[in-house]
Amino acid sequence: MSIQDGLMPGIERRLTGVINPSIPSGSMWPKFIVNHIMQGYQSTMINWADQRPPVNIIAVHFSIGRTGRIVQHKSIWDPGYHVAWGDYNSNSVGIEHEGFSVHPGAYAPDYIYNVERPWPTVMIDASIAVHKWVVEAVRTYDHTFPVGPHTIIGHNETGQPDRIHDPGQLWLAQVKPLILAAFAPPVTVDDFQRGRTEMYEAMMTMTFNQTVEVVALLQANQTRLERLRNDWGIR
Ligand SMILES: [Zn+2]
Repeated sequence: MSIQDGLMPGIERRLTGVINPSIPSGSMWPKFIVNHIMQGYQSTMINWADQRPPVNIIAVHFSIGRTGRIVQHKSIWDPGYHVAWGDYNSNSVGIEHEGFSVHPGAYAPDYIYNVERPWPTVMIDASIAVHKWVVEAVRTYDHTFPVGPHTIIGHNETGQPDRIHDPGQLWLAQVKPLILAAFAPPVTVDDFQRGRTEMYEAMMTMTFNQTVEVVALLQANQTRLERLRNDWGIR
């Protein structure tokens, strides 16, 4: 298990084959991470992985259960087949998440994610861990992976018209911001000090009204700085 073989350390593996013959095994460079919802259960996906071939080929790189169980199904350097639209199968890592965003129709779901029963925190945390490892692995090979809302996406953001509920509006509102925030650098006292210095310098060229606005910002900044100092015991 290593970055070199594209397998996340310390997690379960139920590996399946390469599915895109135009991209040889081990040669895919991920530029996107595409998030999906199973509209079903992780146990089904694991059964598929165990039965392949010939029954089903698991076409995503990871599945994540509601309990935070992470299972890897392919190396991140191998292509999958999880987006039937555009070029994503040759340049993205796919992550499937357990549960339902809408009624699947064919059978009764146990429940559908909504504001009262949102995505489970442990599943989100597991998903964040996978996202962070993938980005770190790509960057280890000196490839860029600009983390942002256009590289970490839902299947519904690929343009595929029949996937507007995958992983769903709740994912966009609840989960995607948490994933992106997990990559943001932590704010430090130095950041506040630098911001304050820059504002003082900018004030030299300002009108009176602009200065009044900046003073208000500085006061808010000072309040936040003091709270940080108290929370962290910084002097
Ligand atoms: Zn999907």
